[in-house]
Amino acid sequence: MISDFAYLKPGSMKEALRMLKEHEEECKVICGGQSLLVIMRQGLVSPEYVISIKQLKDANYLKYDAKSGLKIGATCTHRTLEHSSVAKKEYPVLVEMEEKLASIQVRNWGTVAGNLAHGDPAGDPAPVLIAMGASVKLGSVSGERVVPLDEFYPDLFETVMNHDELIVEIQVPPRPAKTATKYQKFNLLDSDMGLIGVAVTTTMDGDKCKDARVVLGSAAPTVVRAKAAEKVLIGAKLSDSVFEKAGEAAAAECSPVSDIHASEEYRRHLVKILTKRMAKAACEQAKISG
Ligand SMILES: Cc1cc2nc3c(=O)[nH]c(=O)nc-3n(C[C@H](O)[C@H](O)[C@H](O)COP(=O)(O)OP(=O)(O)OC[C@H]3O[C@@H](n4cnc5c(N)ncnc54)[C@H](O)[C@@H]3O)c2cc1C
Repeated sequence: MISDFAYLKPGSMKEALRMLKEHEEECKVICGGQSLLVIMRQGLVSPEYVISIKQLKDANYLKYDAKSGLKIGATCTHRTLEHSSVAKKEYPVLVEMEEKLASIQVRNWGTVAGNLAHGDPAGDPAPVLIAMGASVKLGSVSGERVVPLDEFYPDLFETVMNHDELIVEIQVPPRPAKTATKYQKFNLLDSDMGLIGVAVTTTMDGDKCKDARVVLGSAAPTVVRAKAAEKVLIGAKLSDSVFEKAGEAAAAECSPVSDIHASEEYRRHLVKILTKRMAKAACEQAKISG
């Protein structure tokens, strides 16, 4: 059962940040409520104040320019990103990822920022955005700071956000030339969280991999980069045996758990297979991209 709370409805982001500062540890921000209401119902959090940001029009945007890349506002829903023509053209992997995230109903209400802030290591957006070198802009009454997303998660369901901060924007840099990102999750139920998710970005120079990011979801307490796998790829002339070795390296360095859905061993196997496949797919796509 959800305990009583006061529901606050600011008229602007500035007012929301002021309310957040005023109530700090006793309050929670709510946007689509798709994760927050679940944990409130489970009694895992019982805020005295709930500050809604859903109605903030100044935070509901998705903007792109070739110099600074994509900017996703705090209240931008999954569905808006999924339907964005600019995302489809410049960052198709984001659209493909959204099409497989939850149901249309959840995507209509849930936001990308809310997903990242929730900090679930099984969430889909974080691995893809980390693979693309994205950052989050955090706002508070004292100002703003930008944190690379791969430094955002210190532990399970934890972020580096202070109590008086919220994500005001997600920033995705422009895609460098000859670069592509691929993502796949393995799930038991369609449109559900993955048992494992793997995102790989590669930058190619002819047949050689110039740069790589391999990012694993559900394979550790937080979304993690598989740096040993990245090392295998960077500088290598690509072949099936290199992709195989990258998969083996990722499987060895991650730390998945066993639970009712899958054993640790099975999850490592999935990491190996998906890393191998995503690395190959990203390299092939990068070679033919502009
Ligand atoms: C049935 C179901 C299936 C799902 N399947 C998937 C799936 O397959 N893949 C996947 O990735 N996700 C999945 N989800 C999770 C879903 O994507 C998230 O619940 C949603 O994106 C959260 O966004 P929200 O706006 O609803 O956040 P809320 O529920 O409103 O908030 C979530 C958390 O983030 C905080 N918060 C919200 N906005 C901000 C902000 N701007 N700055 C700082 N903190 C903020 C809140 O305080 C809260 O702690 C599923 C959810 C459901 C209910």
